[in-house]
Amino acid sequence: MRVIVVNSGSSSIKYEAFELEGLSAAAKGLLERIGTQDSRLKHRWLSPSGGWEEIVETRPVADHREGLSFILEVSSRARSGSAPPEIFAVGHRVVHGGEKFREPAIIDDAALGTIEELIPLAPLHNPANVAGIKVMRELLPHVPQVAIFDTAFHQTMPPRAFHYALPYDFYQSYGVRRYGFHGSSHCYVAKEAARHLGVRQEHLNLITLHLGNGASATAIEKGKSVDTSMGMTPLEGLVMGTRCGDLDPAVHFYVQKRTGRPFQEIEGILNKESGLKGICGVNDMREIESRADGGNARAELAVDMFCYRVRKYIGAYFAVLGSVDAVIFTGGIGENSAVVRARSCEGLSALGIALDEQRNKVIAGGIAEIQAEEGRVKILVIPTDEEREIAQQTVDTIERVKGRDR
Ligand code: ADP
Repeated sequence: MRVIVVNSGSSSIKYEAFELEGLSAAAKGLLERIGTQDSRLKHRWLSPSGGWEEIVETRPVADHREGLSFILEVSSRARSGSAPPEIFAVGHRVVHGGEKFREPAIIDDAALGTIEELIPLAPLHNPANVAGIKVMRELLPHVPQVAIFDTAFHQTMPPRAFHYALPYDFYQSYGVRRYGFHGSSHCYVAKEAARHLGVRQEHLNLITLHLGNGASATAIEKGKSVDTSMGMTPLEGLVMGTRCGDLDPAVHFYVQKRTGRPFQEIEGILNKESGLKGICGVNDMREIESRADGGNARAELAVDMFCYRVRKYIGAYFAVLGSVDAVIFTGGIGENSAVVRARSCEGLSALGIALDEQRNKVIAGGIAEIQAEEGRVKILVIPTDEEREIAQQTVDTIERVKGRDR
């Protein structure tokens, strides 16, 4: 029996299949460039000998329906004749659950309708999630499907943290408030931290830093998110690959007036042409670090701004939590960039946050502790696994519903 996790983006579908027993990965892949003549599927699976095998295929794929059919076809071919494993459930990553979903939901017509109603809050993300759900329900009609929301983990934020200081009617009539994202990642690394430290989550205060192309920080008090840096959309907060993060809202009006560019274009610039890319022309941190090492001043400024913003949020969330047991780095940058980790923790020794230079440099994979001997706060590097978290929550949700029905 397997659990399949589907993450449908606007032009891509990422997926992973886990064995129900122990949730070990059995197959995974990525279909890119949906809607073009040369959509590319890279599918990897664990062979009976225990090694990973891979196929890459390119063909025209018009939409998510063709995409998911293509994935199922290649997956069954990759098993080369062996009987197809039974599918226990499908877990779908859904970006925005608004205030409607505080936890994962079994997908029925009503839940799907509600996810569709939330499209105005996440016009760039939810339509693709909905398309993926609809197709999988058609292709696998007898398999239970569960929606796991990026926002749900942050629904525990108190009103003082989730409200914007705007006319209250904006919230009541249009749902304008902070929701937060990357929930599966923050939740996964917090659980992993508790497991690693041998302390129940209810006894821990954590600051989790998911630093990838998208980046966010979360303050977690006794297992519950009490503040997070992304807002109504993923644009708020940290400096990201191509997103600006925190910004004076008056900048929009000023730029619009000065340049005559329509707001839609400015929205595109803030999402796709800003952040690290806006400052130094590229958004890949590896490339930026190497340019900065070579003396490129803009690349150096981009790294400096990125780390300074992370540091400000660590300080802010320390104040939010009052005491902190561990700061956790995750995501492509958080897991791999010793420079970013070091510069983000610089000058925080008064808070008990001090990094050991040597431990920070040599990380052998898995969970690592990188605080200095004198540091009161643990500093952990924890590889995130959003797909596994979604698979786990999918299984838990189905077990819970079955338990209720018994
Ligand atoms: P996404 O948000 O798209 O899932 P990832 O979490 O994969 O992104 O993170 C991608 C980022 O991680 C890129 O900026 C990439 O340059 C950065 N990254 C990956 N490996 C390293 C490394 N060794 N050093 C610095 N940055 C790295």
